[in-house]
Amino acid sequence: MKPNETLLNTAENNRALLEALDYEHNWNGLSTPMRQNAHELSATEKIEKIKGHFKEIMETLGMDLTDESLQDTPKRVAKMFVNEVFKGLNPDNKPEIKLFENKFKYKEMLVERDITLYSYCEHHFVPIIGKAHVAYISNGHVIGLSKINRLVEFYAKRPQVQERLNEQIAKALKEVLKTDDVAVVIDAEHLCVKSRGIQDTASSTVTASYHGKFKETEVRKEFLTYLNLKANY
Ligand SMILES: [Zn+2]
Repeated sequence: MKPNETLLNTAENNRALLEALDYEHNWNGLSTPMRQNAHELSATEKIEKIKGHFKEIMETLGMDLTDESLQDTPKRVAKMFVNEVFKGLNPDNKPEIKLFENKFKYKEMLVERDITLYSYCEHHFVPIIGKAHVAYISNGHVIGLSKINRLVEFYAKRPQVQERLNEQIAKALKEVLKTDDVAVVIDAEHLCVKSRGIQDTASSTVTASYHGKFKETEVRKEFLTYLNLKANY
């Protein structure tokens, strides 16, 4: 379908936007597509290689890399890719998460909302900026709250599609917390939609992943009430 140019930030239009995104945002599967030999090169070797390639991209665009302002850009970009914005591609960077016994016998829902999320669209390599909201119901174990942020960050620091990012975070939380009762909602802006293509500056994309008890309407409603969001996603 041809993207509608007057989408607004409403739930209905979010759905329309998701449809529009399908136009060029096909994805399938939960795992990030990786090559068999993805981890053959060291981080330093990857940086060296990307530096050379990026220099070539800039030169092909016609830029003069002898200019003082540009000469270090390929190295800077390569380091940023490997060590920062795509560090979640390296399993060694997965945060270690210790479980604690839930001494308070807290059996209610725990919600951590407004977790800052910076990711990259894997189709255009431009940022996805948003918030993740995460909830779980303890199965006798708890984790430090900052660990939830770290887990979100780990999966966000990859070239991503929002749907997969959402599912990867939910799956990791289920594994770590040893419970199915997990919910993850992501509300994010895609710069590939805002700054290029249909240039829709008002829209955001909402995805949600509900598991276990969060499939029940009442539980889900409680979660969404904590988020102070409307129950339509
Ligand atoms: Zn994109």
